[in-house]
Amino acid sequence: MPIYRDAGFELYDAGTTKEAFAKETENERIPELYIYSRYRNPTVTAAEDEVMKLEKCEWALLTQSGMSAIDTALSVFQRGSQTRPWLFFSEIYGGTISYTDSILKGRRGLQVHSFFPSGEKYDREEFDRIMTEADPEIIYIEIISNPMLIVTDLEYVIYKANSRGAKVIVDNTFSTPILCRPLDLGADLVIHSATKYFSGHGNITAGVVCGNDQSLMKQALEYRKFVGHMISPDDAYRLTTQIQTFPLRFRQQCINAEMITNLMRSHPAVGKVWYPGLESHPTHGEAVKLFGTKGFGAMVTVDFAGETREEKKNRRDIFIKSVSDEIKIIPSLGDPKTIIMPVESVWGAKYPEPGIIRISAGFEDTSLLESTIAEALKTVLAV
Ligand code: PLP
Repeated sequence: MPIYRDAGFELYDAGTTKEAFAKETENERIPELYIYSRYRNPTVTAAEDEVMKLEKCEWALLTQSGMSAIDTALSVFQRGSQTRPWLFFSEIYGGTISYTDSILKGRRGLQVHSFFPSGEKYDREEFDRIMTEADPEIIYIEIISNPMLIVTDLEYVIYKANSRGAKVIVDNTFSTPILCRPLDLGADLVIHSATKYFSGHGNITAGVVCGNDQSLMKQALEYRKFVGHMISPDDAYRLTTQIQTFPLRFRQQCINAEMITNLMRSHPAVGKVWYPGLESHPTHGEAVKLFGTKGFGAMVTVDFAGETREEKKNRRDIFIKSVSDEIKIIPSLGDPKTIIMPVESVWGAKYPEPGIIRISAGFEDTSLLESTIAEALKTVLAV
């Protein structure tokens, strides 16, 4: 695929120009009808085709970040006057929560409700209650939450939304289409931070909105064009290349996440491990229902053992230092190598336990990764 770096494309005559502008929101793959790269670009379209094969959807629109994909997906449903509130699950990505507070509520004056988990899972009865009381027109969820990896009962959420005429937007970044395709289950739009598993090398910032409904596609295309959320052709080209290996990479990342889970859960330096594949995980049932035998994702959250907060924090810090040649603190996920985040440092008051780290499993050699972590755990216990 060539990289079409052109800002504007040559239109051969007045008739073609007229046709191109008339068909602007059709998203046609006709070479003569490309107009301007902020609207559509052939290299970007080629990358979008790759995403469509993965999500098995009618259309996909790439944007220059996951956040711009979220903004596009939500803005498609915004009208001049809002009559019903929008409902966001509370354990979604922190940046999305800040966006709802600052942009949706703060600047656009929309009514936004949050749905909180009870304990470590979302409670169905509480969901029913908020659906009846708030009667939201939009429900926004992530399938696997961040950082406690709560799996949503997606089928129930969609069933309930359908029965009340609400639209469902799903952030499928953590679960990926390898584990779940929400559009097949009846979701209206799916978004991804393609910065993560789709690009998978920590070197592209990108997002994508996917759907089946053509009228939503036209509105999303128009929104992307007006606000300029379009991805660059260079990034789209690199994404087209890197996304080819996504299924292989993600499967290996899931294998490594399972290895990390099994290694750490039985180790005396570790207090608790959260991984949806564990029977002890509060939403293991939801995970099995949704993912079947396809895997349980590539994220693992771990709390170090300790009698006191200080002891847990020390163990966390010794572990982080011991693995630091191989496993870095990087505020992202889905990278080639395993990376970690100290949860309390990022989420603060929301998750104040000082011993917890979130691990994004990479796709490096499993036995090398295992020995790095096993050695570090030995050091943690020795001190
Ligand atoms: N959705 C999820 C689940 C994320 O984790 C992130 C970022 O970490 C985003 C969306 C935002 O994506 P981006 O950083 O590509 O804008």
